[in-house]
Amino acid sequence: MASTPTRPAGGRHHVVIVGAGFGGLFAAKRLADADVDVTIIDRTNHHLFQPLLYQVATGVLSSGEIAPTIRQILRKQKNTRVVKAEVRDIDVPSKVITADLGGREVVLQYDSLILAAGAGQSYFGNDQFAEFAPGMKSIDDALEIRARITGAFERAEITDDPEEKKRLLTFVIVGAGPTGVELAGQVAEMAHRTLNNEFRDIDTNSARILLVDGSPQVLPPFGKNLGKKAQKRLEKLGVEVIPNSLVTNVDQHGVTWKNMKTEEETTVGSYCKIWSAGVSASPLGKMVTDQIDGVDADRAGRVPVGGDLAIEGHKEIFVIGDMMSYNRLPGLAQVAIQGGEHVADIIRGEVEGTNARPDFNYHDKGTMAIVSRFYAVVKIGDREIAGVLGWFMWLAVHLMFLVGFRNRFVSAYSWGLNSLSPNRWHLVATRQQLHGRNTLHRLRELEDEKGIRSVMVRDNLKVGEGRDTKPTTD
Ligand SMILES: Cc1cc2nc3c(=O)[nH]c(=O)nc-3n(C[C@H](O)[C@H](O)[C@H](O)COP(=O)(O)OP(=O)(O)OC[C@H]3O[C@@H](n4cnc5c(N)ncnc54)[C@H](O)[C@@H]3O)c2cc1C
Repeated sequence: MASTPTRPAGGRHHVVIVGAGFGGLFAAKRLADADVDVTIIDRTNHHLFQPLLYQVATGVLSSGEIAPTIRQILRKQKNTRVVKAEVRDIDVPSKVITADLGGREVVLQYDSLILAAGAGQSYFGNDQFAEFAPGMKSIDDALEIRARITGAFERAEITDDPEEKKRLLTFVIVGAGPTGVELAGQVAEMAHRTLNNEFRDIDTNSARILLVDGSPQVLPPFGKNLGKKAQKRLEKLGVEVIPNSLVTNVDQHGVTWKNMKTEEETTVGSYCKIWSAGVSASPLGKMVTDQIDGVDADRAGRVPVGGDLAIEGHKEIFVIGDMMSYNRLPGLAQVAIQGGEHVADIIRGEVEGTNARPDFNYHDKGTMAIVSRFYAVVKIGDREIAGVLGWFMWLAVHLMFLVGFRNRFVSAYSWGLNSLSPNRWHLVATRQQLHGRNTLHRLRELEDEKGIRSVMVRDNLKVGEGRDTKPTTD
């Protein structure tokens, strides 16, 4: 039987925020002293600084340094309640949201809803690649990738077959956007700098790091000039950049791609494959638009919104960050942060009786990607910076936006050490990290076949599963 929706006692305007990433967290903080009750729901217990995930994957930082708990961040904000649960259902006509934590349901009535559930990895219709090439969207993903990278070297060390050794020492990264470039640079530095005197039977310098992308250059959003510079730097580190190439197969043995100019197909044996090629917005967006006539999510699952970042005809539902489609704005942390603050100001204004809904005006503060130690590329409007100055700018910006003084301090210390010393102090890897995701996936498939539902698998239910009735808008 469906539970009765609840709301905070006292009858104040109830704002429910789904997702405590950049958009959701900054929206919640902006509402700190507003005359509203805020409930922020996230399926994880932490706010994740995604731009630094690659440093967790490659042993520069530990997971805690980029993921403080949401409760800790918001502990002093008395009008805000944190709920750790996965949102499974949003009933638009009734303004009711249902979330679940291991079989325990929480059902909430909202007055305003801020959807900030971000995006997941997209394999462009080839979801079977995920088993062999994890994407990097969560702490779990970063730890799995770390276990795969270190595991490749460990296996190579004890393998006699030279062909298999070669396969184990070939790393393929698919997607040459900022994440792919940053990962490729870091894996190269690990192989050539960190691990090169730790093994006895392999020369880690012989590791091949391949960066494959369908576009003609690396870092397409940074333009040709910076793309060229980044590629040159990557090649200096020993990364092989393979442009104009679409990946057509990924399996346990390796990766196949097709050169779009020559049509030539290449297959390379590789144990460690990493996918950083595409994103698709949270399925919650489509769940909501399916209930609203005349509004459709786009192909990437993003929800079209007006200048107030609300859905047309549903002024109470705001969509921000990676889930929103507005003025072709890219999926960037600043877009989410500024969007979160914008909708929080609108809600506060309406509660206070101002009722102004100004258009969202994104202030572009630039984009940056680190390529290696002492080398980053930065684009701010027409200004392009590459090299050590870019690296210092990258450091300053990332320190400014990391949440918590301790995390800033510890990260600055780690970056300093990492620049001066070849060592990395966060290369711990476990079997659970390596196998957990695929094992849970298989377990779920098995349980589906047998029609069983365990608590562990319930945690892994997809959004929308278990939804009995589909409300209509009439
Ligand atoms: C590896 C990586 C590197 C990046 N590097 C950069 C960079 O250098 N610069 C930059 O500007 N941007 C970068 N980005 C993009 C940037 O991180 C995103 O644009 C930004 O995080 C979007 O914020 P958001 O609030 O929309 O979503 P997110 O920050 O992704 O937050 C979404 C939150 O929703 C929660 N959630 C999802 N579904 C549910 C559900 N059903 N129920 C409950 N909770 C849910 C998630 O747990 C998460 O906490 C990077 C992204 C990645 C993945």
